[in-house]
Amino acid sequence: ERPPRFPRKFIHLSDGDRNPIRVMQWNILAQALGEGLDSFVHCPLEALSWSRRKYLILEEILTYRPHILCLQEVDHYYDTLHPVLVNLGYSSNFFPKPWSPCLDVEGNNGPDGCALFFDQSRFELLDSANIQLSAMRVPTNQVAVVMVLRCCSTERFLCVAVTHLKARSGWEWLRSAQGSDLLRHLQTLVQKHCGGSTGETSSDIPLLICGDFNAVPAEEVHRRFMTSPLGLDSAYKKLSQDGLTEPEYTTWKIRPTGECCTTLDYIWYSKDTLRVDAVLEMPTEEQIGPNRLPSFSYPSDHLSLVCDFSFKAKE
Ligand code: NDP
Ligand code: CA
Repeated sequence: ERPPRFPRKFIHLSDGDRNPIRVMQWNILAQALGEGLDSFVHCPLEALSWSRRKYLILEEILTYRPHILCLQEVDHYYDTLHPVLVNLGYSSNFFPKPWSPCLDVEGNNGPDGCALFFDQSRFELLDSANIQLSAMRVPTNQVAVVMVLRCCSTERFLCVAVTHLKARSGWEWLRSAQGSDLLRHLQTLVQKHCGGSTGETSSDIPLLICGDFNAVPAEEVHRRFMTSPLGLDSAYKKLSQDGLTEPEYTTWKIRPTGECCTTLDYIWYSKDTLRVDAVLEMPTEEQIGPNRLPSFSYPSDHLSLVCDFSFKAKE
């Protein structure tokens, strides 16, 4: 018997679209890292088994049924997530990290990487790119998956990216460089798809960038995204009283080195072309429980972020 999972509420921010685009961002915790390298001291090994975790992960995805699903630390793409989600109407791309730390774990299931899924009844794929992020022109071990989609009902374009930046302290400069590289790639891709018969200009193509940035809100890479000429904002700020503050945590775990409760995950969106209609609340400290994450109730040390967006009317 596993303990109950508490339902999370959507906070509605506008009357909204009756048919919004639902986006989910989630670092699902690579199976090889969870069992092999992470040392979550208060999480029983049994709760970390893939045979248990996979149902909780799929249950959470199916509870919200996002049109766009952005995942990091995916090391069960080919044997689980891809086959299950294809049957549910999703199409997807996966890009493994070049030297995934999962490969150092005995009995690993292959490298971990980023995966981007979209609902085929809602979007048509126009273009995609699997990107190895560079820092000062030097390729790094971090990746991104990008897609240019067209919404079937509105015919509007949307450029979506998923990434997982370098972890740990001391690497703030690398995350910042990787973030800049991703922004540069996105600018180029969006430019490639403007003009043409639909007459889109590059600023008409909204961006959604989901990721585990491994960076707290005070870090350089966060400022870089906030102040980029692409006009981005972070959707989860909408949960705060003043609308300007990131949540207190998106990950909460206890390692031998101590407790880590911090915000590292974000959903960035183009604020001129997209409206945030609803944001899914975070579980409370009490709901997460004294042993923190992961647990028999929560399969990852990161919480999922879910938002509803709609296109703003063109000017
Ligand atoms: P990162 O430093 O970005 O971290 C990799 C993973 O470790 C992340 O998923 C991260 O999770 C998790 N992590 C973060 N903090 C901790 C912690 N305190 N304890 C345990 N896990 C943690 O990895 P890199 O991509 O830079 O790769 C590093 C590893 O990859 C090396 O240790 C090496 O094994 C291998 N490597 C091999 C190379 C080769 O030539 N063979 C070259 C480069 C790397 P989260 O994001 O959730 O925090
Ligand atoms: Ca991790």
